[in-house]
Amino acid sequence: MNAQLLRGQKALVTGANSGIGKATAIALGRAGADVVVNYVVGPDEAEKVVEQIKAFGVRSYAHEADVSNEGQVVEMVARMVKELGTIDIMVANAGLQRDSSLVDMTLAQWQKVIDVNLTGQFLCAREAAKEFMRRGIVPEVSRAAGKIICMSSVHQIVPWTGHVNYASSKGGVGMMMQTLAQELAPHHIRVNAIGPGAIRTPINRDAWETPEAEAELLKLIPYQRVGDPEDIADAVVAMASDLMDYVVGATLYVDGGMTLFPGFATGG
Ligand code: NAP
Repeated sequence: MNAQLLRGQKALVTGANSGIGKATAIALGRAGADVVVNYVVGPDEAEKVVEQIKAFGVRSYAHEADVSNEGQVVEMVARMVKELGTIDIMVANAGLQRDSSLVDMTLAQWQKVIDVNLTGQFLCAREAAKEFMRRGIVPEVSRAAGKIICMSSVHQIVPWTGHVNYASSKGGVGMMMQTLAQELAPHHIRVNAIGPGAIRTPINRDAWETPEAEAELLKLIPYQRVGDPEDIADAVVAMASDLMDYVVGATLYVDGGMTLFPGFATGG
């Protein structure tokens, strides 16, 4: 990815000490952005990500915050504005699963996933938008006044038995993203989503760890490979850059064709 693509921009990535968030934070740094690495537990891993980003000659630091906690999100963005001057790119990536069939799902399991995956993205988008609107466009930095990228999922549109909390959170992210895109576009703020398919990270280890599990998973992926975090990271960099300046309110599925109804490839 072009080292100049995001030169001079300031990015914040939530959940950046693992998986997709980690790869995204590193890719943004490689593309020339200063990067805040958010995490909630695991400071050592976050510090390692910061060191990798600094090696590109940009600024970076780790910040502990629970994205579902309003005060902590407000403080995280306020610190960024104070230390790095502003924010240009918010990648609302943090997310988790608490899987269960409907009849066994506790309210706590439902609520936790909605709190982190949906409310967390709302809080991050709101705090970033305030700063984007205060600052406006800086033409030598970007054509937009700011970019919000919501980490969604193919489950934004694909129902998922045994995961009603997760699928509902991502369906909600899709509508939240479109509504915010509509509301913020007149302020020259671009809001979009990335919808990963099956990406090799800790969140879905069971689905790819053994050859049997991977073979089962590949039945759902026309392109016949499980995705890597870097596949998503590169899409985020592109989406955040001025190459995508006219893309507003879109979900880019980065899924090896998982959303192409693979079951219909041989039947239907
Ligand atoms: P992961 O490796 O488990 O990473 C999840 C990240 O979210 C971790 O850094 C975790 O931080 C952070 N996090 C969890 N709760 C948090 C909270 N309350 N506040 C702040 N950070 C929190 O999983 P991943 O696969 O990279 O997932 C990243 C995003 O991609 C999620 O939104 C997920 O839904 C989405 N996604 C993943 C896939 C896939 O196949 N992997 C597919 C579609 C969508 P700690 O480690 O500190 O807890």
